[in-house]
Amino acid sequence: MKKFLCILLAVAMLAVTFVACSKNTDDGNNAADETAKETLVMATNAEFPPYEFHEGDAIVGIDAEVAQAIADKLGMELKIEDVAFDSIIPGVQAGKYDMGMAGMTVTDERLESVNFSTSYAKGVQVVIVKEGSDIKTVDDVADKKIGVQTSTTGDIYATDDFGEENVTKFDNGAVAVQALLQGKVDCVIIDNEPAKSYVAANEGLKILDTEYVEEDYAICFNKNDTGLQEKVNKALEELIADGTVDKIVGKYIKA
Ligand code: GLN
Repeated sequence: MKKFLCILLAVAMLAVTFVACSKNTDDGNNAADETAKETLVMATNAEFPPYEFHEGDAIVGIDAEVAQAIADKLGMELKIEDVAFDSIIPGVQAGKYDMGMAGMTVTDERLESVNFSTSYAKGVQVVIVKEGSDIKTVDDVADKKIGVQTSTTGDIYATDDFGEENVTKFDNGAVAVQALLQGKVDCVIIDNEPAKSYVAANEGLKILDTEYVEEDYAICFNKNDTGLQEKVNKALEELIADGTVDKIVGKYIKA
């Protein structure tokens, strides 16, 4: 009986080995499998020019192009999901998206929820006001009505420094700027590059010379997905070192 069991076990093991091997050979010979690329799902909020914005049906901008260059380097297919800014980190934590790239500032608080790549750009929080406004420096913002984009660092700093009661939160920078034009808020605190785009697109606005807060932009990842983070980070660092990132930035931001 024991002997019989041994033989049975041996046969079973052989069968398993055979199936495993033949599967390998199959994969190796299957051209379709070789060309099918793994997808890299990036979550963004495409209301943040020049980092991400809509151009017709496409989402373009610095982040979209840097992410595409990373995907190309890794032989992956990039898929961009356009979602609300404040659902990017929860979605990455839930494993819905592989990474978040949205002109996103590295903060200690966010580092408790996600990991970040090497930083690929600098941002500065600035104040947009109407021309002729009595707000001349950041200090004059106290007790004024401040518009921000929900859950951004502009929102977080303004709420901390000037109080919740003075801060009105909007879905994105564009609607915050519309509220400023309509006199519903007295200023908008937002990142400098989108601020420049909004001021260029609308008459009668200006950016204060005094800068509010300086920050680093990076890509965020699920804390358990360190393998992907390492691969993407390595590709990103190579693209920074060989000047590709600078070239992409130069396309969208004129010095
Ligand atoms: N840099 C800001 C932040 O990370 C704003 C980003 C954005 O609005 N896309 O909070």
